[in-house]
Amino acid sequence: MTLVQTLLSPLKPAAATLLAPASISSIYSLGAALMIAFAWLALRRKRRGRRVIPKALARAILPRRVLLHRSTFADLAYCVIGLATLGAIIGWAVVSTSWISDGVAAFLARWLGPSAEPQAPKVVLDGARTLALFLAYDLGFFIDHSLKHRIPALWELHKAHHSAEVLTPLVNFRVHPLDSLILANNLALVIGVIGGVAQYALGRKAVSFTLFDQNVLMLAYIYLTAQLQHSEIWIPFTGLWGRVFMSPAHHQLHHSADPAHFNCNLGASLAIWDWLMGSLRMPPVEPPRLAFGVSGHAHDPHGVMGLVVDPAVNAVKALLLSRVFSKPAAGSEPPSVVRAPLPAADFKP
Ligand SMILES: [Zn+2]
Ligand SMILES: [Zn+2]
Repeated sequence: MTLVQTLLSPLKPAAATLLAPASISSIYSLGAALMIAFAWLALRRKRRGRRVIPKALARAILPRRVLLHRSTFADLAYCVIGLATLGAIIGWAVVSTSWISDGVAAFLARWLGPSAEPQAPKVVLDGARTLALFLAYDLGFFIDHSLKHRIPALWELHKAHHSAEVLTPLVNFRVHPLDSLILANNLALVIGVIGGVAQYALGRKAVSFTLFDQNVLMLAYIYLTAQLQHSEIWIPFTGLWGRVFMSPAHHQLHHSADPAHFNCNLGASLAIWDWLMGSLRMPPVEPPRLAFGVSGHAHDPHGVMGLVVDPAVNAVKALLLSRVFSKPAAGSEPPSVVRAPLPAADFKP
């Protein structure tokens, strides 16, 4: 191996992720998000009787204030380092979804007896499995995210994500490695259990509908809203639609520094869990003035100490102080909410 190959080798996993069509971090889903943003803003200007000027729309989508913000540079660094290392870390430490699924299915077979072969057409069984595993991912994310906002030690880790002061799709990568690791394991656990129940109920022959080796419903989420949830383009879902699906505006409220928005909209692609649990906050049609970020940092929130070291140290301190299940101290409450997309790329039906 040449010196150049050696130096470039850590970037190979990053390139693979960026070029994988099913990855939440791919350049293709980013391109789709840009096109949706462009079409949305053009439509909004047209409805208001204003001229559609492509250059003005491009400036609205990628404003200099956001692009040149220190928060964005920190996200970029996190993105490069995370893509090169995080996959290996998570892959090594995550519990096995298929092992849990097989265990749950075997337990149900012993407890309830062998499952009767379902009589429904295969397309129905496959559709049911596709939906079940998609719901499992979303529920797993909601449970994990709720815990991150409720348990002080976990909030200290998750706070790194909320310290972003401007929102771009790069914020998807601004997740503390331990936060990602816990999410990946929680997802594997929930998907494993629900997958095992689905396996028992639907039979082993039922398989998910996939495209690029990814659950098609997950793929729709990745291409339609996942990237735009970390952007400052206000696309709100309202009415019943907004109670079922998490729009980009829902997640922007989650990141808001306004205490009125703390701990709202904890879901990933679906709003139903927040609706059921009372944490749903519907976005207004017109964009409010929002500020993003958290206060009370000991160090620069966009440096290594503030983003990587302090969250881990503060999480350990919170554990040692036996505050694991107590209410966060005043002043340390989450300023808003968010999701962590990296594990989504690892989700396979
Ligand atoms: Zn959050
Ligand atoms: Zn977020």
